[in-house]
Amino acid sequence: MNYKASRGTRDIFGANALGMSLLEQKSKEIFRKHGFEEVRTPIFEDASLFMRSIGQVTDIVEKEMYIFEDKGGRKLALRPEGTASLARAFVEHRMGVSNPAGKFFYVGEMFRYERPQAGRYRQFHQIGAEFYDSSSPAADAEIIILAQDLLACIGISEIKVHINSLGCQKCRPLFKEALIKYFASVGDLCQDCIRRLDKNPLRVLDCKADSCKFTDAPQMTDYLCDDCSGKFDMVRSLLKSAGCNCVVDGKLVRGLDYYTRTVFEIRSDAVGSQDALAAGGRYDNLVKEIGGQSTPAVGFALGSQRALLAAQNTDFFNNLSSPEKIFVAIADQELFNDAFAFAIKVTRNGLKDNRPLA
Ligand code: AMP
Repeated sequence: MNYKASRGTRDIFGANALGMSLLEQKSKEIFRKHGFEEVRTPIFEDASLFMRSIGQVTDIVEKEMYIFEDKGGRKLALRPEGTASLARAFVEHRMGVSNPAGKFFYVGEMFRYERPQAGRYRQFHQIGAEFYDSSSPAADAEIIILAQDLLACIGISEIKVHINSLGCQKCRPLFKEALIKYFASVGDLCQDCIRRLDKNPLRVLDCKADSCKFTDAPQMTDYLCDDCSGKFDMVRSLLKSAGCNCVVDGKLVRGLDYYTRTVFEIRSDAVGSQDALAAGGRYDNLVKEIGGQSTPAVGFALGSQRALLAAQNTDFFNNLSSPEKIFVAIADQELFNDAFAFAIKVTRNGLKDNRPLA
């Protein structure tokens, strides 16, 4: 029998493996410069952690989680994303005490049972950051700029930042009401949308089958309370002064229920329909929801494979595809003094011992 990698999974080798290592190392450098500390959470967790935090009526929980029972009868899930796991670790280890800056990052594999296509896999890698205990719009702006900086470090600058506000517990119910009325007037919704209409009308907005029908749907930005509206204006103005021209996108709702206020996606035209290279937002209620103290937070995750796909025609990637330039690429990026760089030197130069090259 000839074995092949399972559907939706990929072996990563050659220029892609080098690209991923460089992206991860460069990201870690950038995170550390900004005061973020690394956290490695387990690959599987209690399934109910994700159900509770991501939301029952979401694609991830309804269709995409890899859930299994272990020999002790525990219901576990391979992590579909990093935010819920990090929030669980933050609460469990009282990380707010050991790291009062509240800045954390992670790098690792995630798992979702999705229909595979270019840029969408069942096992994929994310690089993410979470900024706890700040409700300041400056934290939202810092997170978005960080995501942009990570993409820039592999040569991706042609991007669009889509941003929206989902409001808070005070103003979102009014928007939900308006949406339910609107969807009733559209009619002819798919079965998924009909089922989600009552429990989670925001999910209906980004239904893959029906969303093209919702051109004149109400926009959350028209329903924001004064506080949310002021904060949203401030985030945009901070981004603008940092040179980031974002587009307000009233249809952007994201597929996870924990978001409050700011949500964003960084998209690229260089990839196909799976064009969101990084995404995230604010989630002020999640930590309390899973048993911690009320702690506002904002974060993002970048998909490594998707980012590298978008980097295919950049100098960064061309250098990786040409073995002679790999050494230069690594030296250029000041990632020289680790075992990885040494291994490349050994391969390229046939060195068998530790003699320095220069
Ligand atoms: P999310 O966790 O859904 O907010 O997604 C954050 C980022 O992870 C996206 O912008 C993608 O770059 C990446 N991503 C999400 N799902 C997948 C997938 N199935 N395959 C590859 N990358 C993904």
